[in-house]
Amino acid sequence: MGLVKKVVMLTDLEGVAGITSFEDQAFSSGRYYDSARRLLTAEVNAAIDGLMQAGVEEALVIDGHGAGGIAYEELHERATLLHGRPLAPWHRLAPVIADHDAAILVGQHAMAGAVTGVLSHTQSSRTIDYYRLNDQPIGETAQFALCCGELGVPVILLTGDADACAEARELISDIVTVAVKQGLGRTTAISLSPTQARRAIREGATLAIAKHNRSPLTPLRWPGPYTLEIRYFFTTDADARASQAGAERVDDRTIRFTGDSLLEIIYR
Ligand SMILES: [Zn+2]
Repeated sequence: MGLVKKVVMLTDLEGVAGITSFEDQAFSSGRYYDSARRLLTAEVNAAIDGLMQAGVEEALVIDGHGAGGIAYEELHERATLLHGRPLAPWHRLAPVIADHDAAILVGQHAMAGAVTGVLSHTQSSRTIDYYRLNDQPIGETAQFALCCGELGVPVILLTGDADACAEARELISDIVTVAVKQGLGRTTAISLSPTQARRAIREGATLAIAKHNRSPLTPLRWPGPYTLEIRYFFTTDADARASQAGAERVDDRTIRFTGDSLLEIIYR
């Protein structure tokens, strides 16, 4: 195993220091959305500084929040950006991700239902009650880490709120985590200052690479076959999903997908 040279980063907005509101900050219609995406971009750039400090040569940033979640004009000069919606089909994204030595998550939030998880949700705060994979509740962190795992790429760092960090450590015991805020409820948090948050992220990124270079983390795999259950708040969303190939209607608001490959059932 060589030293880590290429890193892919999945970003989200709700786990960034200073963010506590869907309506005002995380939704693109929010009055502070522009400020929020700049806070995210500064955290992304801090992570890239830390990665480069540890010898990483290439960093691909994925705009995970949605089109325009990253302030492109402020992006780190050494990064490249994968962005746009709707996203290209997964079979075209997978080889791009697989071409990296390691993956990291920046700005991540906890899964739906985490009591003190700031803006906790799974995929969509407006439509999804929960995701369960083989009877285990999973959030976006598990989904990304398991899909990366199937591609042979380990997730070695997560930054976000304290609940997102705890969720990550439960999945991947050796992952480095950086908590930039502590939630007191879904829309209340104590955030580090922007400067402190960025410093912690920079140091965390350097540490994650150094640690992985010393003793490599194994990519996350769960034994298959897989059953993914998606529970919606409303029957309208379940109706729409039920017509997809491979979808099985469990009850009024629950849809199930089964398969041997997570790549085929998670991001579809
Ligand atoms: Zn998210």
